Amino acid sequence: MLDPSDLPFRIGYGYDLHRLEPIAPDGEGRPFILAGVRFDHPRGPVGHSDGDALYHAVTDAILGAIGESDIGRLFPDTDPKYEGADSDVFVEVAAHLMRQAGYEIGNVDVTVICERPKLGDNRGEMIHNVARVLGCESSQVNLKGKTHEGVDAIGEGRAIEVHVAALIVKRQDALRDNLPPVDADKI
Ligand SMILES: [Zn+2]
Repeated sequence: MLDPSDLPFRIGYGYDLHRLEPIAPDGEGRPFILAGVRFDHPRGPVGHSDGDALYHAVTDAILGAIGESDIGRLFPDTDPKYEGADSDVFVEVAAHLMRQAGYEIGNVDVTVICERPKLGDNRGEMIHNVARVLGCESSQVNLKGKTHEGVDAIGEGRAIEVHVAALIVKRQDALRDNLPPVDADKI
């Protein structure tokens, strides 16, 4: 039977959504942070950690690729340790588990859907941050921004949604470890 942990490539998919509320003290929103970049915006995500939906979706994509459960199980939002936590720690733990499983990042493709703020000039810094936290090159990370055309909660600026697809690649040495031993008599 095929063991997924032997596959040379594996894919994972991550998704996250956070409600956007006026920032405290006007509401329960936290400062708007995405991929570790702080945006000047009157609304921010509601969440137990810092509410960085992009890092959360990247974490789930990596965990999914290696067949782990998900961010909510690994880092329960009932745990006071993660109250207001910088979400890069979640990505770092997922990347660590990925390497323990013998894989490296192939490429990561991110789609952010929100009406405001515009990602614009911050796109490069966000890509750089994702690559740094994952331990890969910026060229392995792609980031697209879309709006929701004014429709539904996202279109009305009341939520942000992030989708991430990640391809991970088995390290060559780990791949060799998994090959059956060579039968010297058949060479
Ligand atoms: Zn989240």
